[in-house]
Amino acid sequence: MFKTFLSILAALAFQITFAPKASFADAHKGSAKIKVLLIDGQNNHDWKRCSPVMMETLKATGRFTIEVATVSKAEVAGFNPDFKKYDVVLSNYNGASWTKKTEESFVRYIKGGGNLVVVHAADNSFPKWKEFNEMIGLGGWGGRNEKDGPYVYWKDGKIVRDNSKGRGGSHGRPWEYKVVVREKDHPITRGLPTEFLQVKEELYDRMRGPAKNMEVLATAFAKGGSERHEPVLMTITYGKGRIFHTVMGHSHTSMGGVAFQETLIRGTEWAATGKVTFPPITAAELPVERAVYRDVKDIKPLK
Ligand code: ZN
Repeated sequence: MFKTFLSILAALAFQITFAPKASFADAHKGSAKIKVLLIDGQNNHDWKRCSPVMMETLKATGRFTIEVATVSKAEVAGFNPDFKKYDVVLSNYNGASWTKKTEESFVRYIKGGGNLVVVHAADNSFPKWKEFNEMIGLGGWGGRNEKDGPYVYWKDGKIVRDNSKGRGGSHGRPWEYKVVVREKDHPITRGLPTEFLQVKEELYDRMRGPAKNMEVLATAFAKGGSERHEPVLMTITYGKGRIFHTVMGHSHTSMGGVAFQETLIRGTEWAATGKVTFPPITAAELPVERAVYRDVKDIKPLK
């Protein structure tokens, strides 16, 4: 699949060879569509069923175009896309380390104003890659512990950074967890119900990381896990890059939850543009009393 993707890129590169040079930050000005590069191909989760749900969710809005780089373990050595062709990279990747060259190219892209969305186990990836861990704020598993940064959680009305020792990353049993918006004035959360339920899935807790330039937008109480109010939605800035990090999205089923879909749509648009143009969903559509699934066919396109 990645070979097909490369041939598309080659064709595109041919078409724009003689176009006037512009910085990539300006390249999509005036364009209604946000260009997304979805990276998958390795994950301890069912990426083959999850990626299509994310793609269909974003496409249903009419706001995004998506290309996919599916990178198997055998293909990692040759994986070096031109990240700057995209407004935002959406990671559904939890696999082998990229080459040094690709890591450096990705860091340059984000520092220079490229953008990133990290979904669920994508934050398990690359435990040793310092810059990546700064981009995602918090990560889990892969030997992460106190050397990687504090635990971060909500307590007594504020975010706590806790340097106590211990492993990074765990979760309790799946259930319908309540997401509480803690930062109501961010474009991603503005106007959303302040509390809503995500459909049944595991909730990550005890994540650790540098947590620099990171804002926690929403938390959920990790019942049967850490018993703390754990970050669910986060934003991070890295250089000129914007990062949206969601711990939701364990399976293709739970990605059918309205809570996952709406926050993915809003977070991806925000990461790509710094704004959210979608009208906020109402409490009737995203209630706190019951967890709601939605067929992607029922997502309203942006007017
Ligand atoms: Zn999971």
